[in-house]
Amino acid sequence: MLDFATNRRFGQNRQKMKSMSKIFVVGNWKMNPKGLKEARVLFESIKKSVKKTDKIKVIICPPALWLKELKPGAIISLGAQNCHWEASGAYTGELSPRMLVDAGAEYVIIGHSERRQFMGEGDEIVNLKIKAALRTKLKPILCVGEKAGEEMSLVLERQLTTGLAGLGVNQMKDVFIAYEPIWAIGTGNNCLPDNALSATLFIKKTLTKLYSRFLADKVPVLYGGSVHSDNEDTYVKQARMDGVLVGGASLGAKEFAKIINDLG
Ligand code: PEP
Repeated sequence: MLDFATNRRFGQNRQKMKSMSKIFVVGNWKMNPKGLKEARVLFESIKKSVKKTDKIKVIICPPALWLKELKPGAIISLGAQNCHWEASGAYTGELSPRMLVDAGAEYVIIGHSERRQFMGEGDEIVNLKIKAALRTKLKPILCVGEKAGEEMSLVLERQLTTGLAGLGVNQMKDVFIAYEPIWAIGTGNNCLPDNALSATLFIKKTLTKLYSRFLADKVPVLYGGSVHSDNEDTYVKQARMDGVLVGGASLGAKEFAKIINDLG
């Protein structure tokens, strides 16, 4: 647990900054929906249903080959779900950051637990990918989070320290962190607000150690893991997150738009 002083300090800064900063809502479509026709319908329905507001930035991350097919809107930008760490070369089946930018992506999810689990991505690869994304002006959303039974602070400290190794203060201005406890992803077993708050404060404390308190206050921290329209605001209000990363619930236009509009 974090000490009272750390909790209060970041709490006060967060309150001060909250009126100025945006709330981010990321939709991770994973390998969904089934086809391009459905993707277009979903994207256009979301676009039609969200209220325009300066308070919110929505980042929809469809399968990469549809980035070019979907036209971003007033508050909606596009992101990719992964990128390679090289600019080009003999990497069959992979996409470079530049290719994703050319297709319309402004953001990229890196180190999602499903890639760590199924593709064997470790923290060193994650670090290379973040650096490659930043070189191409693609803003990385670094996913961190513990498995059930693991100590949150130990896992986050390792993932943040190695994942962000070698990044300068200037590069960090474009980095987002998403706290996604693996046991909460796709399970309906979302993290309690108090535990999410501990994660927010631990991430801020680690960023302070690695950089400075000033920078720790500026890097947006999002929560992901079974977010729905009946729990999204607890992560922003109680857990002091800067927004949410939504998987399953981003595949229903009505539900996803409700999450966005409720936060707006
Ligand atoms: C995710 O894909 O990162 C995620 C948080 O999924 P879900 O919202 O379905 O738990």
